[in-house]
Amino acid sequence: VDKRVTDRLLSWFDKEKRALPWRKSRDPYAIWVSEIMLQQTTVAVVAARYEAFLARFPDLAALARSRPDAVLAAWSGLGYYQRARNLHRAARQIVRQRGGAIPESLEELKTLPGVGEYTANALRAVAFGQFALPMDANIRRVTSRLFATRAPRSFLPRLVSRERPGDCVAALFDLGQLLCRPRNPDCPNCPLRSDCRAARTGRASDFPPRPARKARRVIHLAAAVFLRNGRYFLRRRRSSWLSGLWEFPAAEGPSAREARRRLMALVGDLGRRLPVEIRHAVVNRNLRISIYPGKGSAAVSQGRWMTRRALEGSAVSSLVKKIAGALPQEW
Ligand code: SF4
Repeated sequence: VDKRVTDRLLSWFDKEKRALPWRKSRDPYAIWVSEIMLQQTTVAVVAARYEAFLARFPDLAALARSRPDAVLAAWSGLGYYQRARNLHRAARQIVRQRGGAIPESLEELKTLPGVGEYTANALRAVAFGQFALPMDANIRRVTSRLFATRAPRSFLPRLVSRERPGDCVAALFDLGQLLCRPRNPDCPNCPLRSDCRAARTGRASDFPPRPARKARRVIHLAAAVFLRNGRYFLRRRRSSWLSGLWEFPAAEGPSAREARRRLMALVGDLGRRLPVEIRHAVVNRNLRISIYPGKGSAAVSQGRWMTRRALEGSAVSSLVKKIAGALPQEW
């Protein structure tokens, strides 16, 4: 460990650390939930939803005995729903196999659904105070710049103290988010500036090396909205990564026309396209969404009719909420 650097890092953290809701608790369950939420979601979005989720599922036992639907509903708005399903399955596994005690070793943690190398090591350091070295994008960037290296993993042990490993990890995370940002790092205000090789040579933006980016594909989605007596028809999605969520019947295609044709094959006759335009980005796809009033009745047998309010409180993706929000009052 490079003691001078970790001392500077920790004294900066002690003064500047963000009062994030998951930092109030030492409970490994609460920390685990935050780590899973933060995997693919920004700190701001997680901070807005985290406490409500914990209020609904205050401990591991409460989460384990809940229905999958309730967990998905509470996850609403965080995206990447597979994480919620895995969290729930992992909670059940821990109750079944270990009487509810979250494991502390890397090997055992990695047997939990949704817990990979990074999350296991973050939990070991932050929840259990072990000397562990999680490497997320923030920590990777800071380490890579500090040592002006393209292989930051081997340098990370020098930045994590054995006395306060969890705080070092959280400090590197905060530093990466607040000062050592991907673009325009704020080197003049950085506590590690005098030790930073990249800053010294004015090359901060050369690190870490950037992987080539894949362009997002444009996909057209046609959705059918059936409205009766103030209720919308939704069906449960069966395939893919959004499986289990409620959605408007929909079909995808390489063009708007083809998506509409496929949708008609599913739900029968459609009305005129509604004059709303919705765009939505998921993972590596840009969706262009067209909405049509549904006309047939054969399609609307297997599903549920929901009021707008019921829909908002159910396990639906943010896309479904977006579509509901854009619908005219009547058509
Ligand atoms: S001095 Fe600049 S590049 Fe180096 S760690 Fe600090 S913010 Fe990052």
